[in-house]
Amino acid sequence: MWTGLGSWTPHASPGKGRAAARRKEGNQEQLAHLPRPDWLFCLILFCFSGKGATAHLETGGFIRSQPGVPHPDIQFHFLPSQVIDHGRVPTQQEAYQVHVGPVRGTSVGWLKLRSANPQDHPVIQPNYLSTETDIEDFRLCVKLTREIFAQEALAPFRGKELQPGSHVQSDKEIDAFVRAKADSAYHPSCTCKMGQPSDPSAVVDPQTRVLGVENLRVVDASIMPSVVSGNLNAPTIMIAEKAADIIKGRPVLWDKDVPVYKPRTLATQR
Ligand SMILES: Cc1cc2nc3c(=O)[nH]c(=O)nc-3n(C[C@H](O)[C@H](O)[C@H](O)COP(=O)(O)OP(=O)(O)OC[C@H]3O[C@@H](n4cnc5c(N)ncnc54)[C@H](O)[C@@H]3O)c2cc1C
Repeated sequence: MWTGLGSWTPHASPGKGRAAARRKEGNQEQLAHLPRPDWLFCLILFCFSGKGATAHLETGGFIRSQPGVPHPDIQFHFLPSQVIDHGRVPTQQEAYQVHVGPVRGTSVGWLKLRSANPQDHPVIQPNYLSTETDIEDFRLCVKLTREIFAQEALAPFRGKELQPGSHVQSDKEIDAFVRAKADSAYHPSCTCKMGQPSDPSAVVDPQTRVLGVENLRVVDASIMPSVVSGNLNAPTIMIAEKAADIIKGRPVLWDKDVPVYKPRTLATQR
């Protein structure tokens, strides 16, 4: 790790510790006319079924924010309840929410060791919302969520908007809401970027070997060269599977004809 701790960095590479690219999400919520939670709880407890017997987080979606965006750049999670401060604050009203955010954030952060004591947690500075693109993308997220919440299908369940609240309308007001309320969605990556040895920001080579260090590989989400357009678990497993093949010298699994969805209305429609 590139620590800035002097003698700790014999093989420091400029890429190390840089680019803690991560996803950030904001919550928008609406007062709701939903079944009471205690009724749902009884259904789960006694029948192991019913509307409450779900993980509650299985509804989500990826959308393209505007025409011309080649593949989805916004992710939604829908929650049929209030989740405040990651569940640390008890629910206060019957409401529903979406957690929404751009999946290809452009803000770049860093992490470094706090001290020479390996027990100390590292210092992580994500630098959220430090680019104009991220601020604009978040503004779009808020506007698109309002558009979805205004759909006819949600009319029977819709109460007044709790968050950001109907008083938040101008771009400036939306930006201030996002800055005050958005927080981490737990998907840090790219702190140990993979690249060609000629790339001064690369930490591992395309074989997952740490550049400049013998017999050391990194195989995890940190070696992603750029942030993926979604959650990290599956691509991290794919990296691990691929690295296992590389280490064992197995032939590359490569099907160049895998079909990839291309929107027919790319240029004209979201
Ligand atoms: C709260 C939360 C929710 C998430 N939800 C989702 C989700 O819904 N979907 C999704 O796709 N992704 C999700 N993620 C992201 C995903 O879990 C991670 O991005 C992914 O696990 C990263 O894999 P990794 O191998 O890079 O790191 P990790 O899974 O963190 O693995 C690192 C491993 O290294 C071990 N380790 C650390 N230090 C040492 C050491 N010094 N010596 C030996 N071992 C060590 C740790 O114990 C750990 O087992 C979530 C993450 C969090 C935190």
